[in-house]
Amino acid sequence: MSEANFTADCSQCFGLCCTALSFERSNQFGHDKLGGEPCQYLQRDFRCRIHAQREALGYGGCEAFDCLGAGQRASAAFAGLNWQRDTGIARRLYARFSQLLLLQEMRQALETAATLDISPAQHAQRRGLLARLSQEADSASRDVTDTALAVLGEGKSFLRSLAATLAD
Ligand code: SF4
Repeated sequence: MSEANFTADCSQCFGLCCTALSFERSNQFGHDKLGGEPCQYLQRDFRCRIHAQREALGYGGCEAFDCLGAGQRASAAFAGLNWQRDTGIARRLYARFSQLLLLQEMRQALETAATLDISPAQHAQRRGLLARLSQEADSASRDVTDTALAVLGEGKSFLRSLAATLAD
């Protein structure tokens, strides 16, 4: 597995997990937050004001979250656009970030499946899907794409079929 593919680089991100995603007050998060609304602790430089004390202050869910590199990919695609003032651009950014989360998650699952004892034909299918997922995730697209939706659907079916094979 190429580690660089899946390592979140928060220094190159607009704090997207702290803005785009929603969370509810619970033992994982200290307050309610709507999707698209910046966390009350997110600073203007996209750093977290309570980063060192997140767990102590009841934000263990933030510590546990891993975007697998979706954040910096979405941020790079929207660099230079005024998404903070234009709600239409912001909506596109958050939608693309959400799709990149799924792409990176599926990509990692298919990379991990390289070690599985499955048939050569299944490994060939796995590699084919992986190549398409990588192309989608590494593209500079600013929009949710139908081709990404299609490969995510196919990947899901493939992983289900693998689970059934391995259960036999
Ligand atoms: S979305 Fe990912 S890269 Fe961005 S701040 Fe969150 S964890 Fe870091």
